[in-house]
Parts: sequence; structure tokens; C-alpha cells
Amino acid sequence: MEKIQVKASRTYDIYIGRNLLKDAGMYISEILPTCKLCIITDDVVSELYKDTVSQALSDAGFDVHTFVFKAGENSKNMETVHNILEYMAENEFTRSDGIVALGGGITGDIAGFAAAIFLRGIQFIQIPTTFLAAVDSSVGGKTGVNLHAGKNLTGAFWQPSLVLCDCDTFSTLSYEIFLDGVAEAVKYGVIISLELFELLLLHNQRLFSEPLVNEKPDHSDAVIEVVKQCVQIKRDLVMEDEQDTGIRQLLNFGHTVGHAIEKCSGYTVTHGHAVAMGMLIISKAAHTFGLCKTDCFSAIEEILKTFNFPVTCPYTAEELTRAALKDKKRAGKSITLVLPEYIGHCYLKKTDISNLEAFIKAGL
Ligand code: NAD
Ligand code: ZN
Repeated sequence: MEKIQVKASRTYDIYIGRNLLKDAGMYISEILPTCKLCIITDDVVSELYKDTVSQALSDAGFDVHTFVFKAGENSKNMETVHNILEYMAENEFTRSDGIVALGGGITGDIAGFAAAIFLRGIQFIQIPTTFLAAVDSSVGGKTGVNLHAGKNLTGAFWQPSLVLCDCDTFSTLSYEIFLDGVAEAVKYGVIISLELFELLLLHNQRLFSEPLVNEKPDHSDAVIEVVKQCVQIKRDLVMEDEQDTGIRQLLNFGHTVGHAIEKCSGYTVTHGHAVAMGMLIISKAAHTFGLCKTDCFSAIEEILKTFNFPVTCPYTAEELTRAALKDKKRAGKSITLVLPEYIGHCYLKKTDISNLEAFIKAGL
């Protein structure tokens, strides 16, 4: 098992291993005294893992309540948050009680936001069950929901008190949902780490079908190694720039266009799939305008192909630009784009919004 510590506005540990759910009570009781815990989960994950976690928490002496919402991005809104807050108030949760987010990134974002605002903030624990939530959303304290106008337009920075990542839960994911996490892992490779990019290229689809196989003798478990490397990269960026005003923005690589694709599709294109297309569009445009040192577009296209990613974007530059301009990464008349210089290094470029459509067009 791997243990990684984050020192931000809150200091907390991330455990990455296998067969951890049944010990959730033990890990949580190390950081929280006996209290009420509200497990927040969606209806799919509830069927799979709620009983195990609920039992583990009860056995450790916690008073366990559960709130289940309908799975999917269309639940990531204020109404779900409102229902959670009302449920916890009715059940007399106090400031010393906590929330357990059990599920993918959508659950973590909703539950974390509820934790941030209930009684002006209570503690919460992330138990990610998708590859995406493990490598990305469960760490770093960005919580929030979508508004009609766009993705993640309301939220709070609110760090978890513990992250328990049980990689055995990935065994029940469909390949499509697994791929969503692959997109974020590829993102870390492109922005910071050629080593991670090559690790992903080496294992490609076998990460999903034979997760324990690793050709490097010093790594016995490829999935854990990938999650660990991603989390370390995210931890370092978050510790340097928790509030996302500088270097943390590198994590937005592929996201300005990715969020626009999600929005244009009415959220039928999932986050990771949209980010994969977004990374391709931005890197092709950057290559076309001579802004990269090496051909990152071809390298990203190659790695996405080895995972069999669907990568054709069905929207026009005009549609994407309209949606992108509602993105929160816009600041007045400019937008900060993340551009690849070579694999393992990206940089931030402030761009006038009047140039965005032509830029996106060059990437399609
Ligand atoms: P998700 O939470 O909807 O999970 C995808 C689907 O998988 C859901 O239907 C869920 O019920 C199901 N599922 C979850 N775990 C499962 C398991 N172990 N076995 C079988 N099915 C399972 O989506 P996601 O891809 O995990 O997260 C996407 C969200 O994360 C987006 O809203 C995105 O904006 C957000 N995100 C947030 C951050 C952050 O820093 N806060 C970072 C990246 C992405
Ligand atoms: Zn993302």
C-alpha cells in the first residue's frame, strides 16, 4: 500500500491500495472521533459498495446514515446539494460530524461541496471508486456543481480529511468509464511527466484487463503505480498553488475545450472522453501555430489510439467557442490556455478571446 501526504490548508493522507473498503472504519477512526457519518453515493455505487463501507463504519462505532442520488452529470447541481443539506439537518448532523463521499468524481464534487457549506464546513472523507476519481478529483479540494450556463460554475475549495483509494473497486468499471480516468492520467503525463506518459503507453489497455501485470520488476502493480504517480503530481501542484491562481492551472490542459464539448453534448459525452478530445484539439492547434517544440499532437493521438479512445469531436469551432466563453477560466477579455511544449512540459498562455475561435478551428 502507498501512503501520500498532502500539506495544504488541511494536512491529510491518501492511501492507495487494494481491499481497503472493509477497513474504512479503522482508517477513519484514526482521524475522527466517534460521530455521525453520512455516506453520500450514487445509485450505481450504492448497489456495489455501500453495504461494505456502511458495515465497516458501523463496526468501528460510527452512527451511519446514507444519502443516495441518481448517477450521472445531470445530478451534479444545486438541487442535489440542497437535498443533501436538508437530509443532514433533519438527521441533526452537527459540526463535529462528517461526510463520506463514496463514488466517482461526480459524487466527490457534490459531497465535498455539501461538506464545505453545511454548518459553514464539516469534515469529509473521499473514497474514490472510479479511476478518474482516484487519479484526479478525490485529491486537491476542488468541490462544486454545474449551473445551466456551464461546468463547475459554483463551488468551494474544501480539502478532504482523508482519501482512501481501493483500486479493487475499478474491477467493476466498464472500459468506457475506466477510459475517463485514462484521459486525466495522460494529461498528467503531458503536463509534467514523460515517465508517466511512457508507463501508460507501455501498459495501455492491459491496465484495465490485467491490472496486476507490470513489466518493470520494481513495480508489482501497474494500476497502483499509475495512481500513485498521478496523485504525487497533483499533490505537488496543489501544495504550490492550492487556490488555482498559477501553476495548478496546468491541470486544465484539454479542459477549456473539454468542458465546452461536455456542455454542447448535454453531458452525454463524459468528462474524461471530452478532455481527451480537448487535449487533441488544443495540441493540434498549438502545433499548427508553431507553439510546440515537438509534435505533441501526434504523441497524444498515438497514446489515445492505443487505448482505443473515440476522438472525433462532433461540434464546430463556433459551437465550442460559444460554450468555452462561459468557462470559469475566462478572465475579462482573455482566457488562459494550457499549451504543450513537449511531452512532460506544458505552459500557460493568456489569449485574447477574439482569437479563440480561430485557434479551436485549427485544432479540429
Ligand atoms: P462519475 O462519478 O459519474 O462515475 C462514472 C459512472 O461510474 C457513474 O455512473 C457511477 O455510478 C459509476 N461508478 C462509479 N464507481 C464505480 C465502480 N467502482 N464500478 C462500477 N461503476 C461505478 O464520473 P467520474 O468520471 O468518476 O467523474 C467525473 C466528474 O469528476 C466530472 O463531473 C468532472 O467535472 C469531475 N472532476 C473533478 C475534479 C476535481 O478536481 N474536483 C477533477 C476531475 C474531474
Ligand atoms: Zn478533468
